Amino acid sequence: MAQTLSTLAYLVASVLFIMALRGLSNPETSRQGNLYGMVGMGIAIAATLLKPGMGAGGIVLVLAGLAIGGTIGTLLAQRIQMTSLPQLVAAFHSLVGMAAVFVAAAAFYSPESFGIGYAGNIKAASLVEMSLGLAIGAITFSGSVIAFAKLDGRMSGSPILFKGQHMLNAALGALLLVLVIAFVATGSPILFWLIALLSFALGFLLIIPIGGADMPVVVSMLNSYSGWAAAGIGFTIGNLLLIVTGALVGASGAILSYIMCKGMNRSIINVLLGGFGSDSGAAAGPGAGTADRAPVKAGSPEDAAYIMKNAQKIIIVPGYGMAVAQAQQVVREMADLLKKEGAEISYAIHPVAGRMPGHMNVLLAEANVPYDEVHELEEINAEFADADVAYVIGANDVTNPAAKTDKTSAIYGMPILDVERAKTVFFVKRGMASGYAGVDNELFFRPNTMMLFGDAKKVTQQIVQSLQK
Ligand code: NDP
Repeated sequence: MAQTLSTLAYLVASVLFIMALRGLSNPETSRQGNLYGMVGMGIAIAATLLKPGMGAGGIVLVLAGLAIGGTIGTLLAQRIQMTSLPQLVAAFHSLVGMAAVFVAAAAFYSPESFGIGYAGNIKAASLVEMSLGLAIGAITFSGSVIAFAKLDGRMSGSPILFKGQHMLNAALGALLLVLVIAFVATGSPILFWLIALLSFALGFLLIIPIGGADMPVVVSMLNSYSGWAAAGIGFTIGNLLLIVTGALVGASGAILSYIMCKGMNRSIINVLLGGFGSDSGAAAGPGAGTADRAPVKAGSPEDAAYIMKNAQKIIIVPGYGMAVAQAQQVVREMADLLKKEGAEISYAIHPVAGRMPGHMNVLLAEANVPYDEVHELEEINAEFADADVAYVIGANDVTNPAAKTDKTSAIYGMPILDVERAKTVFFVKRGMASGYAGVDNELFFRPNTMMLFGDAKKVTQQIVQSLQK
């Protein structure tokens, strides 16, 4: 009876997780989606605690884990800056990977507790599942640690390349396969730890050649890996919910990776092999590279306010700098004032703007920007030609025409927002620094561009003040 109830509860939780993903696919329903996910997780935990055979010791351990993990998670969530979320997500992925490694080790050394056999005599199918969970978990761990270091600026965002890199990775991949087969045949503890070691090395080697511009795909890919690692471990310990949840995370991460690849016009194989743009003359990595050729036209917030007051169609293009400055609220205030002046306002979102998938959508939703004003690249790109003003706030790479013209550029091939087709383009940024991919942006020097130098929030606040006069 208790077993049936627990299975039923797991089923309800699985359905809630699916509804959570569905909800999260749209900003309007995302809060509801989050709620479904939380309720699902609550049911899953309760069902696990009430599982037959859990025992007082098990319950204490689960509650202790919840208290420690929950406290750390709550403190982190309260303190974390919005701009540091991508590296936090990468760090969390690494924990999922490590958890998979620990669970695999627990199942290997105490198979009786999981009903998969006895020490030295574990079922072959369980050994296959265990080794897959272990390998994917270890790859996810070390890969996510590198992604964290790159996103947090603790390590250069430039691709790290060396001769014979792809051959080495392919050889290590083949060796891993051989080790897994040998492990399944023998159940040897030495082979178990060799698989773990080799996978840690492979995770590290797979992520170091991936350069700044391709990091969005890495983040979503590691998300997917963490899901598959959990699903593999779910099979090992016979936990239905872990299998379903892991597969959901794995599949949605894979779909997201596909969407990000499409957004950057890259094939997943190219991203995985890494080293994109490594031969470009531009310095890669956050904030690298400056452009100092022809003089640029710099304007004041008052100039911008005047031009925008007389504009009919304005497209706002947010980027990473808006997140850094936390300017989303004041951007909406500016848009509200301009709407009162009779302007039509829309927001153009590039799929890789900011530092994590959906970054700009989250910020704009936080500022209560109406969803119908927010448009994806394909929907809005043709509209720039009719726009009087493109207000580019803290965005850089996603507008850079080098992606269309310079074959040696790190971002070559990535679709961009055609802001330069607007009558006037304002670039709100602090100086002439390049974006994350380290590529100079020639739009700053175009005759229809006016640079508004300064912090995105301060500049926009000054525009708001001018509009209110
Ligand atoms: P970019 O990184 O290209 O440019 C951001 C610009 O904002 C910089 O040039 C910077 O210039 C400016 N800036 C920074 N702080 C401020 C501030 N306080 N006020 C005003 N301006 C500021 O951002 P984009 O959004 O255009 O492009 C995203 C890039 O990040 C792409 O290369 C993408 O591949 C990469 N990426 C995206 C991820 C994702 O999932 N979305 C994940 C990882 C990487 P200045 O210093 O002169 O002010």
